Amino acid sequence: AVPLVVAVSTALAAKSGFLIRDRTAFERAKDLQAVVFDKTGTLTLGKFGVTDILTFGGAAEEDVVRRAASVEAHSEHPIARGVVRSAEDRGLSLLPLEGFRASPGVGVEGETDGRRVGVVSPGYLAERGIETGDERVGALQRQGKTVVFLLEDDRLTGALALADIIRPESGEAVRRLKAMGIRCMMLTGDNQDVAAWVAGELGLDEFFAGVLPHEKAAKIQEVQRRYRVAMVGDGINDAPALVQADLGVAIGAGTDVAVESADIVLVRNDPRDAAAVIDLSKKTYRKMF
Ligand code: ADP
Ligand code: MG
Repeated sequence: AVPLVVAVSTALAAKSGFLIRDRTAFERAKDLQAVVFDKTGTLTLGKFGVTDILTFGGAAEEDVVRRAASVEAHSEHPIARGVVRSAEDRGLSLLPLEGFRASPGVGVEGETDGRRVGVVSPGYLAERGIETGDERVGALQRQGKTVVFLLEDDRLTGALALADIIRPESGEAVRRLKAMGIRCMMLTGDNQDVAAWVAGELGLDEFFAGVLPHEKAAKIQEVQRRYRVAMVGDGINDAPALVQADLGVAIGAGTDVAVESADIVLVRNDPRDAAAVIDLSKKTYRKMF
């Protein structure tokens, strides 16, 4: 039989905006020492808008946006949506594309207009030994902007800076957790400078940047050597990390895969509800013994 306090808590949980998928994991929540948040879509809205366009080697700005958007039109990534919207806003028609390929945490590529076109991360650019030699890139990243690069037949022709928005509730979520003595961390595939900016804005204790999707679970395992840890995320990329964590929390209308991998589902897109989960776990299981 389900003890009365636990039954009452299930009702309270629903009222507080979360669903318990694994009861023993919910019980463990009272002993958590750290919470790791995904950045994009969890601490931020995950809605990117293009703010700046850089061109290299004499490329025209319109061509940079058009070619990047022609590849990104085949991707569902929040960055891709921002790039496509920017082309639409400029009234640019997209080019037909062949051989589309997405590489999680790295970028996208395909053939168009007789060339191989890629939109890629700063990490990939560095790996290929390509340098922009443009100090505006670093300056944009230090403002918290995500910069992606356009490669045409392996030549750098442009860069697009995109701004996301920190959720208005994220700061309070961090303050509440820290007040409970819980360390707040962030895990992201985004660049170090962008991550540092967000971490500074929110007063996070630690962050891990440039983490590829397949490395996220291992990163959680590393944190687990120091703390009992919850992971809060929304994306397909986060599913293995949600499973690895002592408590996996899927945020809001996250992907089905994230929800299936989580112990707790936050009904609203509100990171403060992660603090509510731990609070209710403490209140529920304190009374039992
Ligand atoms: P997060 O951990 O923040 O959810 P992802 O792992 O989805 O981020 O992506 C990490 C990085 O990979 C992005 O910041 C970007 O540099 C690159 N990237 C991923 N998908 C795309 C895409 N469709 N277009 C361009 N860059 C991409
Ligand atoms: Mg994500």
